Amino acid sequence: MHRTPDSECPACHSKITAAANLDDASLVPSPGDVSVCIECAQILTMNDDLTVRAYSWDEVFALEIEARDPLMNYRAAVLTRLEGKNGQ
Ligand SMILES: [Zn+2]
Repeated sequence: MHRTPDSECPACHSKITAAANLDDASLVPSPGDVSVCIECAQILTMNDDLTVRAYSWDEVFALEIEARDPLMNYRAAVLTRLEGKNGQ
């Protein structure tokens, strides 16, 4: 986990204070990185100041398949986790 400036998920308004790369924990967040909100699965991207904004589906589908596949897999994992949480 790497600390980021406090920001807020535009979809669920969860506070976001950190980011992590699941494949390589040594990677630090940088502008333009794409991420997924762990509270609502909204796809996010990092602004220049490392706050986040919503990433549009147009942007998602403009990604190279090599970047889009892991993103969609990760989002699916978050959705599965959220469904388990809500189902209790
Ligand atoms: Zn969210």
